Amino acid sequence: MTRKFLLTLLVFLPGCGTADTAPATAQPNVILITLDTTRADRMGFLGSKRGLTPHLDALAREGTVFTRAYSQAPLTTVSHATLLTGTYPPFHAVEDFSVPLPDDVPDLAVELKQRGYRTAAFVGALILDPVNGMAPNFNRGFDVYDAGYRLRRDRADDRYQSLERRAEDVVARAQKWLEASSSQPFFLWVHVFDPHEPYEAPAPWGQRHKDPYDGEIAYTDSVMGKLFDFLRQRNLMAGTTIVVASDHGEAFGEHGEFTHGVFLYDTTIHVPLVIKFHDGHWKGVRYTGQVSLVDVAPTVLAAANAPVPQEMQGRNLIPLLQRPPADLPSYAETQYPRRAFGWSALHTLRSGGQLYVQAPRPELYDVTADPETKQDLAEARKADARRMDGQLENFKKRVESGRTPENVRTKADPRLLEKLTALGYVSGGAATTKPDNELPDPKDKIQVANQLHSATLMIEQGEQARAIPTLQRILATDPQIFVAQMQLGLAYSKQKNYREAIAPLRKATDLMPTSGPAHFALGRSLLSVGEIAAAATHFEIVVTQIPQWAGAHFLLATAYAITERPQQAMDSCRTALKYEPSNYGANLLLGRMLTVHGDPAGGLPHLEKAVELRPNSAEGFRLLADTYARLGRAADAERARAAAARLRGAAPVVDP
Ligand SMILES: [Zn+2]
Repeated sequence: MTRKFLLTLLVFLPGCGTADTAPATAQPNVILITLDTTRADRMGFLGSKRGLTPHLDALAREGTVFTRAYSQAPLTTVSHATLLTGTYPPFHAVEDFSVPLPDDVPDLAVELKQRGYRTAAFVGALILDPVNGMAPNFNRGFDVYDAGYRLRRDRADDRYQSLERRAEDVVARAQKWLEASSSQPFFLWVHVFDPHEPYEAPAPWGQRHKDPYDGEIAYTDSVMGKLFDFLRQRNLMAGTTIVVASDHGEAFGEHGEFTHGVFLYDTTIHVPLVIKFHDGHWKGVRYTGQVSLVDVAPTVLAAANAPVPQEMQGRNLIPLLQRPPADLPSYAETQYPRRAFGWSALHTLRSGGQLYVQAPRPELYDVTADPETKQDLAEARKADARRMDGQLENFKKRVESGRTPENVRTKADPRLLEKLTALGYVSGGAATTKPDNELPDPKDKIQVANQLHSATLMIEQGEQARAIPTLQRILATDPQIFVAQMQLGLAYSKQKNYREAIAPLRKATDLMPTSGPAHFALGRSLLSVGEIAAAATHFEIVVTQIPQWAGAHFLLATAYAITERPQQAMDSCRTALKYEPSNYGANLLLGRMLTVHGDPAGGLPHLEKAVELRPNSAEGFRLLADTYARLGRAADAERARAAAARLRGAAPVVDP
């Protein structure tokens, strides 16, 4: 058996390479920076001549550049789950957004926290919000996880105050956290979302670049420059291991794809990766062997002189830097076509200079001769394709854990499964149970994905009237597309046409019974048309699945209050306030309910809080006036009544 063969085998063994650790020194600080949706070919340090990234290039000169780093998935939550856990998607089972990160997978933040690190995450968008968004349990191991995002209420609602934050805002929050001095080492994760569409960089970057995506990259780089300056000024640059990576790239029409998620070609899977080690080791090295994002967590732990958990499947890259570059086979997958559209999932293996795409009609590319993967050789090199298919299958078998997104949830809370079953939901988690090779090949359907994507963006931008016909056209031929049903329901909801919203949202929950956001949207529409008991059941599912979702607890409380279940309503309000003390609706409702159930003194602070939160709410002042009156505080009651009268005319707002 040759040494090369043995090394190839080792690559496939989970947890291997863990014996390699750097010599023990003090615990260095660690900063992980993830640049969402950032293409490798826009980085100056990877050969771009566009001049977009002077600050990242400067960091790259101080550190090690991995010129051929590959992501394991073209989706934000999946790729970040791999980055944080050092495990492959078939192991952590976070195969799409909304799937909770399991409690029992290894995790970088958990490991470092256990070793005395202060840990904090500052994420840039709703997609990585563990509470209101699509990344349940991603806050595992973090002392501070700064998110707090929400969907936009309407067109006037600023997206940078709701769905996402500008990079400068995210970095400013992170810097504030860094300023609190401590003798403990820290682990900081900063995620910036700006390069993700819509591409609308602030001035002057938006204007300076003809390509709006390039403007976002240049803007993001400028903010990174500010962060690096801040670190230098506080002597935090030396002594800190800094990793910069992107979670996935972005497609601009390559293979017919726009944005990311469906395909696994280099446009979305080749990613920038720089590691600047705290001790200055490997400065200026350009490592040209093939590596993967799954290798980041073990490498960071090794750099921090922390043991790498056996279950981590990536490799510590440090020992590789001491040898001539070698290609580690790199695996990627996307379940998005299957879960969102009912098409085949895709899997790829990059190995030996070839890219193999496992699909109903498999593809094979010689990436050395054909880096843009324009010529599919699967027919011409049948034996190679078969061999790589075998390797890929073996690889999946070696890394999978047996977790599925469904049993991840069920394990988290069996009550969820009970509720779903009671409502008649069966199986669940995926839009189809058919094997992949019996499903449509995504390459035959990519135009549908592109249309759906534009419709989603229209809704996000408040253009419901334009989006609805597009969605209806898609659903006329492909009614099993979860995202299309969900978006159609949301489009109607945003138009306040809740009756029309119910059918597509119900279909969405049929297609993906474990989607918390789908149940939330359906519950809200049912509540709005007066189907209160049904609404309550859907909110119960949401709060079982995502217990910290304050807005769902509040709407559940509303449903209980209307159906004469005051005790349950008040309990749900209290739960909402436990997670979000400044939830207006929960303060208002709890304050009112306590008042009318004989405890105006208990209700008062909640109503005072409600009017403090929304000083323009006539409803709040009206209820507050009544509570003051019941407490015998006539003058206060009069003042509150006067305020309500002044504000009358403004529609009462009850909003989670
Ligand atoms: Zn992303």
